[in-house]
Amino acid sequence: MADSSGKTFYLETFGCQMNVHDSEKVIGTLVAEGYRQVPTVEEAGLILYNTCSIRDKAEQKVFHRLADYKKLQAQGKRFGVLGCVAQQEGEKIFERAPHVSIVCGSASYRNLPQMLIQIEAGKRVTGLDDRETDQCFETEFTARTNPHRGYITIIEGCDKFCAYCVVPFTRGKERSRTSDSVLAETRQMADLGYSEIQLLGQNVNSYKDPAGKRTFAELLAAVGQVPGIKRVRFTTSHPRDFGRDIIEAIDAVPTLCDHVHLPVQSGSTRVLDAMQRLYTRDQYLERIGWMKVARREISITSDVIVGFPGETEAEFEETLSLLQEVEYDGIFGFKYSPRPNTPSLAMEDAIPDAEKSRRLAVMNEMQREIQRKRNQNQVGRTLEVMVEGKNEARGQWIGRTTQNKTLNFAANKASTPAVGSYVNVVTTGCFPNSLIGEMVV
Ligand code: SAM
Ligand code: SF4
Repeated sequence: MADSSGKTFYLETFGCQMNVHDSEKVIGTLVAEGYRQVPTVEEAGLILYNTCSIRDKAEQKVFHRLADYKKLQAQGKRFGVLGCVAQQEGEKIFERAPHVSIVCGSASYRNLPQMLIQIEAGKRVTGLDDRETDQCFETEFTARTNPHRGYITIIEGCDKFCAYCVVPFTRGKERSRTSDSVLAETRQMADLGYSEIQLLGQNVNSYKDPAGKRTFAELLAAVGQVPGIKRVRFTTSHPRDFGRDIIEAIDAVPTLCDHVHLPVQSGSTRVLDAMQRLYTRDQYLERIGWMKVARREISITSDVIVGFPGETEAEFEETLSLLQEVEYDGIFGFKYSPRPNTPSLAMEDAIPDAEKSRRLAVMNEMQREIQRKRNQNQVGRTLEVMVEGKNEARGQWIGRTTQNKTLNFAANKASTPAVGSYVNVVTTGCFPNSLIGEMVV
């Protein structure tokens, strides 16, 4: 029988790494308030969904979940919607799902302790953010799930307003933490045994230290120089704010990983302009050129949208030719999804869904071949990996290279690698999405 009177909660997270990390902070905050996290909805008194509204499918998922578990309200369970859908839909959620008691956008999480008191008293609460908020959600109570690799959000929100994107509406204006506080958190994490740090932001490289002490590239370098830190990653970078100093920092500081995620969205300057991306194809390719001549080989990944309103076949082919030119190590391809409040909603020449699916399939197929070729270059090399776990069924260990590639490897029984440790692996084969190898003893 479920314990709905005890202070227990279940939290499910949808969407990006920022959401995953927000959830770690929400969990820490709830635990500090005397709540206990439980692994199933059935065991929980409070059921929370940290939501994503970047594409229509992501948004629908949360409403399906709420519908699936509505009947549990009769057992006294309470429901909450956090994050981007909460911020976007606001109190309309109460109309669509009347069993919900809490609707809270990400910049209001600092008010969660007071909100919890109210919902415990049987009230409904709404915490919606003002787009102009200056608040960052900094808390001492982050419940990080991975003991070796940890996220740190350095900048929240977005001021770019790409024509298709909800983020500026759901996450408010751009606001950065001080570089001193980021470094203090890195040192604390290093003391706790973390060796890999991932700096996060919707546009991580638009970072501006409010104290004016360090640029983004300087902060990257400083995080990479904290004793105990072996790897630093950062995501997501916006091409407009991507300076050569970032590559210089990667060249100079060995702990900065050999990987840059630089979303292009389209290979056509006309479409990029309609998307309000603030750069041209050539400007984007100039940044790729800086990476290609870096001292270390940098793996490059990207996000691409197909079927933006008005995208012609020739413009789609420009995206394909850009992919051939850059030779990405990986891409996330998306079909354009019309989103509330965004300027592209009113644009004409919508592309039929079947055509968007076709373009996505053509692009993904081409990209698979590029990745096969890219990964083939790694065969025969000895690469350092962080051990992430073991696939018992296959008897293989799972490792991650500095280029962010998955390298599954065999190790002999006498040399069992510890999760979180770093070992050398010689690469013996490859697939489009992973490498295989053998541990070097
Ligand atoms: N700030 C990052 C940038 O500008 O590249 C991206 C952050 S966004 C959360 C992640 C990705 O979702 C975007 O790069 C884009 O490819 C995709 N995306 C955002 N809005 C979308 C939409 N309306 N339809 C399809 N894909 C979308
Ligand atoms: Fe969305 Fe554009 Fe901001 Fe990225 S830069 S979060 S795509 S509005």
